[in-house]
Amino acid sequence: MRFADIPGLSDIKTNLVRSVHENKIPHAQLLAGRDGSVNLPLALAYTTFLHCQNRQADDACGTCAACSKSLKYIHPDTHFVFPYSNVDNDKDEERLKAELLKSWRQFLTEQPFGKIEDWTAFHGSEDKQVLISREESREIIRSLALKPFESRFKVMLIWQPEYMHPAAANGILKILEEPSSFTIFLLVSNADERLLPTIVSRTQRVTVPLLPDDEVKTFLAPRVDAGRLPGLVQLAEGNLNRGLQLIDREDNPTTEKFTQWMRACFKRDAIQLLTLADDFHAADKMDQRNMLTVALTMMRESLVHLSEAPLLRVQGNDLKFVQDFSKVLNVPKIEKATHLLNEAYFHLERNGSAKMIFLDLSLQLSGLLKASR
Ligand SMILES: [Zn+2]
Repeated sequence: MRFADIPGLSDIKTNLVRSVHENKIPHAQLLAGRDGSVNLPLALAYTTFLHCQNRQADDACGTCAACSKSLKYIHPDTHFVFPYSNVDNDKDEERLKAELLKSWRQFLTEQPFGKIEDWTAFHGSEDKQVLISREESREIIRSLALKPFESRFKVMLIWQPEYMHPAAANGILKILEEPSSFTIFLLVSNADERLLPTIVSRTQRVTVPLLPDDEVKTFLAPRVDAGRLPGLVQLAEGNLNRGLQLIDREDNPTTEKFTQWMRACFKRDAIQLLTLADDFHAADKMDQRNMLTVALTMMRESLVHLSEAPLLRVQGNDLKFVQDFSKVLNVPKIEKATHLLNEAYFHLERNGSAKMIFLDLSLQLSGLLKASR
């Protein structure tokens, strides 16, 4: 991964690059971002840049011996620490490590924008608890005792440090307190509020925001039909990983389903709402999330339509729906509906029962649509 492979965020890239050119590299940095932010790709690109033997003004050269190893994630001075579970209960520590690393490198190559759930699915541990174990931190300490092999630096990239076992966290803390001159820690977190404050305080924080729509659009454009692009960008909501995953899906039937759902809510058609709740429950996480995202977008568009501002982003059938939908809505209703949808989204993310969430939401929306004001 090089900086050029990551869209947008030029300020962050500039700062990272400058720290190297000016030889003011913090010994520990925390790249913090929400799910879907490109903090891992940035850490990977930064690592490539640090090891590069022929650094350019704003990126690694991509062709030197160090780069060719970094781009395959096999540079001997890059250490990866990441949560995992011993899926096959392999007692042979060495073999387990080798297999894991192989799997990890493949994951980074295929899904560099992936998140923890993608990794566990990739590695076959989606139903198991993953963590960074105490043994892992011992191993970090051991490997840090050695000088770098080929580079000036040793990079310790800890992905999702929030999954550290407390004993591992304490081990890491000790090293952060007494850093060696050549070791650079990159903590890449998607939930930094779960990290020990003592760890956070020893790192320099780099906040990585989600990407703006236009960056997502530029990135996805060469990968998808022009007709699908606006819908995908809307559903991706700044999350490149989600955008990429959506490409592989069939044409998205979500809007149609949403229309059907709202009609059933309006008619208070209990049987259909139950059927829809079952469908919703049976859908995978991404489709469930998409449905709520589409609903939120439609609410926003209806609000825009009601205020008669020429800012509508929807077109075609969606536009017709928004026009009709706006007739049964008013501003307070839309605000209430938006609140309900956000709440449902929140519960869904926390693994509440999809069926119950959907049904409860449907009944509340139903009441809202029917209410006289
Ligand atoms: Zn290079």
